[in-house]
Amino acid sequence: MKSEIIWAPWRLGYILGVKKRGCFLCQTVRGSSSKKNFLIFQRQLSFITLNIFPYNNGHLMVAPKRHVADFEDLTEKEVCELTGLVQLSIKVLRKAVAPHGFNVGLNQGRCAGAGLASHLHVHVVPRWEGDTNFMPVIAHTKVIPQSLLEIKDTLRKLFQDLTSSKKQVSNRTKRKKI
Ligand SMILES: [Zn+2]
Repeated sequence: MKSEIIWAPWRLGYILGVKKRGCFLCQTVRGSSSKKNFLIFQRQLSFITLNIFPYNNGHLMVAPKRHVADFEDLTEKEVCELTGLVQLSIKVLRKAVAPHGFNVGLNQGRCAGAGLASHLHVHVVPRWEGDTNFMPVIAHTKVIPQSLLEIKDTLRKLFQDLTSSKKQVSNRTKRKKI
């Protein structure tokens, strides 16, 4: 009997992929992803990757390099570096895609919504006024307006620029008052 095509939301592909291919975060940081590696930036203990099944355009994931499931198992140094990269991600995304806000957080455990529960990661999701509420964004398909490859290059460059010339970053403090 011919197998039937299963029509499923695109997130299903992600969940099945996790089961089939193992930990994509470990693979990303080892640079062993087949043709496309979406590693954006890294430091000694942690790294940032583009979510290729994003909830929104520019959706980043910040993770420790160690394959650790629980936040409380991170060392103090890892927490420090990871948090620094979350902050840096927000700075870069502000420049790259000019969002109105962000959802930042981690889903610890599968029951809490973690697609890849065994390797902790913090989501940094840019948001715009008028886009949908957070829960519908998580639950359903969205059309991603900018190609992943295009945004990958933009983000990599911005991370390099921001970390190589730290003085420029302080411009953000001059926020306009309305
Ligand atoms: Zn891993």
